[in-house]
Amino acid sequence: MDNLPRVRIAHLPTPVEQLPRLSALLGGPQLLVKRDDLTGLAFGGNKTRKLEFLLGEAQSRLSRTLITAGAAQSNHCRQTAAAAARFGLACILVLDGTALEAPSGNLLLDGLLGAEIVWKGKADREEKLQEVAAAAERAGRQPYLIPYGGSNSYGAAAYCLALRELLDQQVDPDWIVFASSSGGTQAGLEVGKRLFGYQGKLLGISVDEPADVLQSGVAALAESTSQLLGEPMQFSPSEVSVSAAYLGQGYGVMGPAEVEAIHLAAGYEGLLLDPVYTGRAVAGLIDLIRKRTFSPGDSVLFWHTGGGPALFAERYREQIASI
Ligand SMILES: *Cc1c(COP(=O)(O)O)cnc(C)c1O
Repeated sequence: MDNLPRVRIAHLPTPVEQLPRLSALLGGPQLLVKRDDLTGLAFGGNKTRKLEFLLGEAQSRLSRTLITAGAAQSNHCRQTAAAAARFGLACILVLDGTALEAPSGNLLLDGLLGAEIVWKGKADREEKLQEVAAAAERAGRQPYLIPYGGSNSYGAAAYCLALRELLDQQVDPDWIVFASSSGGTQAGLEVGKRLFGYQGKLLGISVDEPADVLQSGVAALAESTSQLLGEPMQFSPSEVSVSAAYLGQGYGVMGPAEVEAIHLAAGYEGLLLDPVYTGRAVAGLIDLIRKRTFSPGDSVLFWHTGGGPALFAERYREQIASI
């Protein structure tokens, strides 16, 4: 796994910090945070780790254009645009929805980073992506297609190594809790757990998918990732631990639970969460603490996956401003 093509763009290892005031407030287990919001590329986040391997792969194929897709406030798209700029590649982003009047948050940064935006409109995402890739191919732009969320085996491999990084930091928590969506982060951590003998529990808080969909997606991706790493293993969906109890009103819709989590992390620890992913995951974590899911002596590490720029999205302005 240390021989996969890779570029070095992330600031690693990311720090691990204690959250003593939040732990005390919740009267819960010892809380820690792994700061992957500090990976360093254009405000960072978990996609920067994945992009080290995705860019390695794109370079080995002599690609000149990165193409990917996501929501209008996609952190993955923002980090991909930054990585493309860093390596002198073009970047085309296929975004959900239609052109907005005034870009804000991640979308503002996409433009600043030089990405070309294609609005998906009502088209099917996968079809649109293939169409854009085919057009780029015909135009001689040598495209490399990065899947939604950067979640193929190359992207997920980065999180296998991230678990090794954590254990190398002499941090061995009873639980690791994180936001899970396209599943690459969780798949990589699941492979890393087995490979490096992590004995604690992984828990993905689903941000948008029902539990069974996320579990089977993660299991399949963990299998293909383990193959890529030359350590083939089998994963069944039931072994993948996921909670889909915090989907609220759906993807990207901020409710009172996310508002509370963002408020507490900011006010008690000076830690910024995002409205879509980490706000939801910490809202789930807080609820699980209140329900006494963890033993009092447990240590629980929240793996912060980034997303901060969405705090500045027009869409969330009123809710954030009212905190
Ligand atoms: C993409 C993203 C996630 C989810 O990671 P997956 O690998 O897609 O499951 C979590 N948090 C933030 C901030 C993200 O941008």
